This record gives sequence, structure tokens and C-alpha cells, in this order.
Amino acid sequence: VNQIGIIGLGTMGAAIARNFARNNVKTAVYNRTTQVTNEFIETFQSEGPLTGFEDLARMVKSLEAPRKIMLFVTAGKATEAVISSLTELLEPNDIIVDGGNSNYKDTIIRTETLAKHKIEFIGCGVSGGEKGALEGPSLMPGGNPTAIQQVTPLLEKIAAKDFAGNPCVYAFEGIGSGNFIKTVHNGIEYAIMQLFADSYEILRKIYNLSAPEIADIFASFSKTKINGFLLETTIDVLRKKDNLNPDASLIDLVSDEAGAKGTGTWTVQHALEMAVPVPTIAAAVFARQLSASPEIRQIKAGIFAHKNSTSDTAFKLPSVDVFTKDLKQALWLCFIMIYTQGIHLLELTIAENNWNAPATEYLRVWQGGCIIRSEILTQLPTNEYLDEITPLIPDAHTSLNNLIQIAANFQLAIPSITATRDYVAYQSTPDLPTNLVQALRDAFGAHTFARKDKPGTFTEDWSS
Ligand code: NDP
Repeated sequence: VNQIGIIGLGTMGAAIARNFARNNVKTAVYNRTTQVTNEFIETFQSEGPLTGFEDLARMVKSLEAPRKIMLFVTAGKATEAVISSLTELLEPNDIIVDGGNSNYKDTIIRTETLAKHKIEFIGCGVSGGEKGALEGPSLMPGGNPTAIQQVTPLLEKIAAKDFAGNPCVYAFEGIGSGNFIKTVHNGIEYAIMQLFADSYEILRKIYNLSAPEIADIFASFSKTKINGFLLETTIDVLRKKDNLNPDASLIDLVSDEAGAKGTGTWTVQHALEMAVPVPTIAAAVFARQLSASPEIRQIKAGIFAHKNSTSDTAFKLPSVDVFTKDLKQALWLCFIMIYTQGIHLLELTIAENNWNAPATEYLRVWQGGCIIRSEILTQLPTNEYLDEITPLIPDAHTSLNNLIQIAANFQLAIPSITATRDYVAYQSTPDLPTNLVQALRDAFGAHTFARKDKPGTFTEDWSS
């Protein structure tokens, strides 16, 4: 009798199945393409109790009741198709856990549909990529807590550990909450990656540093709060040589067209719907979209001047050491602001949906295994950390502005850094120019305005 079934033996499903087996959980596996199942069993059966099935119904029958099945198939139609086949095979109280990057709105519909068959459905955010899935992912199951409690003992066996050594898993109460937390996690991931890309852009184009030299600068940040998986991975990527040409850095040969699978866009779409400003995340999503049109960029490169040196004779480029110090402080502030944007979006969405998903728990679950795990999580999220953060902000803010000044002098785009600076600046400006926006709204649409000098609502004929 198997304890868990895994459907989908692609990158994630295969690694998760092996992780369960290595932890001595009797694991049944099924993949649409049978050859994949056979090769998987042949290669990995020595790692633990793994049984492959060519037939989905037989796989389901092999599981102890209530059955627990995790899906790792492509999000969207494929997940829908697998759920539909499973519905006919499962019995009341059985549990489907979707480990894919599904849209939380789909999870809400699926949970309601499956409830008609008395089948439990859990949307479980899983982060860590292939290595995390194998060695310990961060797990964000969301849904009915009674159902989640039944799979928690199994999930705890495979999860990463947080800073205190506890499993990176928490039963988030609320249908769709797990998928939504994972979606925002990915939005934060987009922004951090773009932040490193922005920094790399200045270092390579203004300071003319090679990829390994830039890696050394990033490595000098490894004892700071921005240390974490994405910083370490950036250093590895910048240090990697090309196998075909060992003198070349592989990064210099990688095309600049960045792909995306949707979670960043969902984060921004949802933020717009909720009226939560997430400009750094949005800038990262737009940067990938702009990167996807190389032909257009090539044509426009001939129209807009790009400078290799500044024409402003009064501008003095700081030494690379001075710049590195500014970069270190600016990146710290950007990290704080990126997570803050994500937390803001999560908190309002959690409250609106009446989910029970404490910030302390999703931030704890992100401490291990996941792509955005970082030392910064020791400074977030709540008021008790403000005493630690507040005194550091003025210097970091100056550093952030210094970076923008340098990039602007060389007409370089650093979208995530610029968006963060504007986010910080707008939030801390007592007299914004949006009085003009409000007056214009009234001028053409009679949308009314409030006055600074007296209470009430006013409208005006602005043309006379
Ligand atoms: P892969 O592309 O490696 O694997 C996709 C799997 O889905 C394969 O097993 C494939 O089977 C199966 N599949 C596709 N279409 C169908 C279908 N119509 N019916 C049945 N099975 C189907 O994907 P990943 O392992 O990378 O991702 C799986 C899920 O996990 C996705 O939702 C993804 O967003 C999410 N995820 C991925 C992460 C990553 O780092 N890769 C991290 C976290 C989550 P077949 O072999 O027959 O094609």
C-alpha cells in the first residue's frame, strides 16, 4: 500500500517523488507518457520505496485511504485534465494536492467542483526549483485545514528547514491561499532578479567589469542581509565558464530575451485590482516583456543615443569601491521595499478573503528551500524590526539616488532600481504633485476635489 501518489514526472514531480522515497515514504508515481515513468523507476528505484504505474486507475487503487495524490503537471488545461480523470477514480475524503503554479482563482473553482464529489483539494505552493524539490522545498499548502493536517506529516518529511530548524510548511487556511502566497513569492523573485540585472548593467557598461569581476563584487555582499539563494546563484552564474570555450563567461553568450510563465503577471494584475502599489515587481515584469522584442530594440538603438561615457563634464564617476558601497546599501533598501510590496499585497488579499495566513508564517516558510530565501527575512516583517531598519534608511536612500544619477548620466535603464526609488520617494513626500491630477480630473470630468484650507468637496469651472 502506497502512502502518496505523484502525478507528473517532469522536473518538479520527479524530484519530489525521489524526496518522498528518500524519506522512506511509499510513493506511487504516474506520468502521462509511460516511457518517462519506466525510465524514472529504472534510474531511481534504488533511492527508496518507489512504484511506477502505467495505468492511473491502478495507481489510485494502490494508495491507502484516504488517498493523497500530488500533481506536478503543467498549470492550466493540463492540470484541469488530470483532475477531471482523477475525479472519476477517487472516493469521498480522498485528497488531491496541486503542487503546480496554478492561479488561485482556478483553485477556488476546482475546490468547489471537487467538493460536490466530497473530494478534498489543496492548492500547494512549492518553491525551490529542481534542487529544492529534491533536497527540501518550501511548501505553502492552502485550503481546508482538516484536509491539510492529513498531508502535513508527509509534507514535513520532505520540506526544507527554517532558520530555527523547523519544517518550511504551514497549513494556510483559506481556499486558494497557498497558490496566492506562491504567486506573490514569484513576483518578489522577479523583482530581485531584475535588481541584480540592473546592478550588473551598471557594472558591466559603466565600470567595464567582466562577469567574474562583477561576481566578486556580489560575493562581497554575502555577509550582508541581502545574502540568500538568488545572490549565491547570481555569483555562480557570473562565474560560469562556457564549456565550449573555457576563456569565455557563459553569461556573455546567453541571449537577453527573458521568458516568463505568468506568475509575475498575475501578481501585478492582482495588485492593480487590489489598488496595491507594487512598482518594483511591475518594473521587473515589464523589463522581461521589453526584452522579448530584440528586433524592435535593434531598430530603436539607432534612433536613441546610447552613451559609453557621460557628456556631463561636471559629473565625476565614483570609484568602483565607492560605487560598491552605495550598491550594497541601495540593494538592501530595494530588498526591504520589494518584500514590503509583496507583504502589502498579501496582507490586503488575505484580509479581503478572510484567510488565516499569518505573515509570520509565510515569511517563516520562505526562510528555507525557496528561491527568495534570504537573510533579509530576519529583518521582516513587523513593527518590532522597524527600530533596526529605520536608522539605516537615510544613508541607503542616498545610495539609491546615487545609483540612479550614475545610470542616468550614461542613459542606462535600471528599471527595478528606479521604480523602487520612486516608490520610496512618493511614499515619503508630504506634498505630492497629484493635486494637479486631481484638479485635472475635476476640470474635465467634474470628479470634485478636496481643498487644503477648508473641509468639504468642491468642483470648479477651471476654464474661466
Ligand atoms: P515539466 O514541464 O518538467 O513537466 C510537466 C509535466 O506535466 C510532465 O510530467 C508532463 O507529462 C505533464 N503533463 C503536461 N501536460 C499534460 C496533460 N495534458 N496531461 C497529463 N500530464 C501532462 O514541468 P515542471 O515539473 O517544471 O512543473 C510542473 C508544475 O510545477 C508546473 O505547474 C510548474 O509551474 C510548477 N513549478 C515548477 C517549478 C520549477 O522550478 N520548474 C517550481 C515550482 C513549481 P509528459 O511527460 O507526458 O509530457
